[in-house]
Amino acid sequence: MHALQHQDVIVASLASGSRGNSTYIGTEKAGVLVDCGLSTRQILNRMDELGLSDAQIRGVLITHEHSDHVGAARVLDRTFQKLYGRPVPFYMTQGTRAGLHKQCVPTTILPVTSGRTFQVGDFLVEAWTVPHDTLDPVAYAVNVGGVRAGVITDLGRTTRLVERQLGSLDIAVLEFNHDFDMLMQGPYPIRLKQRVKGAHGHLSNAQAAQAIERGGTERLKHLVLAHLSDDNNTPEAAMEAAQEGLHRSACRGVTVHVASQQIPLGPLRIRTPRNLRVPRPTPRRTAAVVTPPTVPPAQLSLFG
Ligand SMILES: [Zn+2]
Ligand SMILES: [Zn+2]
Repeated sequence: MHALQHQDVIVASLASGSRGNSTYIGTEKAGVLVDCGLSTRQILNRMDELGLSDAQIRGVLITHEHSDHVGAARVLDRTFQKLYGRPVPFYMTQGTRAGLHKQCVPTTILPVTSGRTFQVGDFLVEAWTVPHDTLDPVAYAVNVGGVRAGVITDLGRTTRLVERQLGSLDIAVLEFNHDFDMLMQGPYPIRLKQRVKGAHGHLSNAQAAQAIERGGTERLKHLVLAHLSDDNNTPEAAMEAAQEGLHRSACRGVTVHVASQQIPLGPLRIRTPRNLRVPRPTPRRTAAVVTPPTVPPAQLSLFG
């Protein structure tokens, strides 16, 4: 049985940065995770912190095989099987599957093809290629009841496709990795500087601002600045570039947020324009993951 009702589309950044990335997209009842690069315990604790403890995860969309995006896959897979009594599918390209470290391989992997649309629960998902130094990296847009939310991180440069997709989103999580001058004057060795600024590295503030300008972003309500470098960027510099990009695109009424590594962001909400099929409420998850200090060590190991 499904109820028909309007409800908010929710996007929350559980963590963002080179030490771990995960974004929740869905409703209060169900959703997907884009990437799982922080510990399973942190993922579940942060969902609880944001009031998303009742949300059932229908699938985990993996962008690429770097550990800050897929590190928790195996433990998260086992944890979901215990929570839900069945496996949750992990979606990824064949290239990402081939590049996965053997300690990060979940049991149920469903293939993703760049340029194709696929269904995950009630959500329509699109994947498209981004330039990054892995085997077949993608970005994702998730359509929830007519609202489009996307996660576009880990790309060395903007492309027409990235700009077109960005222009179609209501909520965008976009990489603002580094300030170019801070990177070049900063502490990284020259090889690493070249990798980060290269065409298959990471998007600078100026490049991200340019993508916004070119993409148009007419529908955009929330822009989340993501994957900021601790060493080569500041939230203020990223914010300034984003505001400039929005100003140049003549886009108004966009709320800009900065995602962080340490503190989860959200939930950001948009009311769905049409009715959405939602599952019946399910029992609350076990409280074992809510407050770490009260959890006995034996249970903690389940979520490590
Ligand atoms: Zn990354
Ligand atoms: Zn990466």
